[in-house]
Amino acid sequence: MNKKILVTGAAGFLGSNLCKRLVVDGFEVIGVDNFYTGSKSNLQDLANNNRFTLIEHDINQPLNVPCDWIFNFACPASPPHYQKDPIFTAKTNFIGGLNMLELARANNARIMQASTSEVYGNPLQHPQTEQYWGNVHTTGPRACYDEGKRVVEALFFDYKRMYNLDIKVIRIFNTYGPGMDPNDGRVVSNFIMQALRGEPITLYGTGEQTRSFCYVDDLINGIVAMMHSDASITGPINLGNPIEFTLKELVETLGTVLGRKLNVITMPLPEDDPTRRQPDITLAQKELGWTPGVDLATGLKKTIAYFEQFVQ
Ligand code: NAD
Ligand code: UDP
Repeated sequence: MNKKILVTGAAGFLGSNLCKRLVVDGFEVIGVDNFYTGSKSNLQDLANNNRFTLIEHDINQPLNVPCDWIFNFACPASPPHYQKDPIFTAKTNFIGGLNMLELARANNARIMQASTSEVYGNPLQHPQTEQYWGNVHTTGPRACYDEGKRVVEALFFDYKRMYNLDIKVIRIFNTYGPGMDPNDGRVVSNFIMQALRGEPITLYGTGEQTRSFCYVDDLINGIVAMMHSDASITGPINLGNPIEFTLKELVETLGTVLGRKLNVITMPLPEDDPTRRQPDITLAQKELGWTPGVDLATGLKKTIAYFEQFVQ
């Protein structure tokens, strides 16, 4: 309980939810963010909490802060944001990751990397297990993110092999919930904001592509369980909800929750958009005893309640 925990990307969607949970759990938390996509308003609840400190810092620069645990979550995560400055994205993963590994080494700290289902690219194995090596287009517009996450995973395991650093690598699948930026550009936030504003839903491609959506509270439980787990459990480990939906089914579920039929306009499918994505979470169930419990309709209801504040 007297652990000092550093969370990078603290002002973002997952980072802010994680900081709040860690403070409730009784830890002293230091949030780090350069506000590239995140916002201080996400951390409003912690502004006057004496167990929380926020530092404005770009992890591409070295950092020297005493700590026992590090959660490295800094990185733009929505396709429009990570593709806006792809060199910054790749750099944040590699150089930022390297800086945080050096910080962990200097403090003999445990460090977790937020990796992603994107390391599987457009997967040829379905559902995706951790053993699958992936199918990433190495020079496409998503590569700055996908390859960035792949290289930071490699770095983590090299720090383990060379310095026996205490590492944890999680591969997060599409997660949604309160704390998402309404202008983030990811599908759940886009669809809910469009529905609340009475605008048409922008469906990219045929809508037959699939994703498996995890509610944020479930994910945070998995993250916390992983960080508390025995040092022998390094990952990579998939964390996500294994129930797969087509994008059309997402629109239908949202319409059912809102109690009305939603107008849809079709737009071009972005380049290299993965066709199917579904986590195999057998490993997380076995090693962490973790299974997500919030179904899509329930999670959407809670997320809609959060987004209502942004609609006039
Ligand atoms: P987000 O964009 O809401 O948050 C990212 C945060 O990192 C922002 O606050 C941003 O300002 C900060 N940041 C970016 N670059 C930085 C830098 N160089 N230095 C300091 N801060 C920086 O995204 P999120 O959804 O909260 O994602 C958090 C992490 O989880 C990311 O690493 C992302 O790749 C990973 N992830 C998220 C999902 C998901 O579904 N949300 C899925 C897979 C992986
Ligand atoms: N998508 C969509 N409309 C939008 C935003 C996204 O149809 O307004 C689709 C996108 O093409 C992809 C899926 O929703 O097939 C998930 O996209 P997101 O950007 O949330 O995350 P990804 O899993 O692609 O990284």
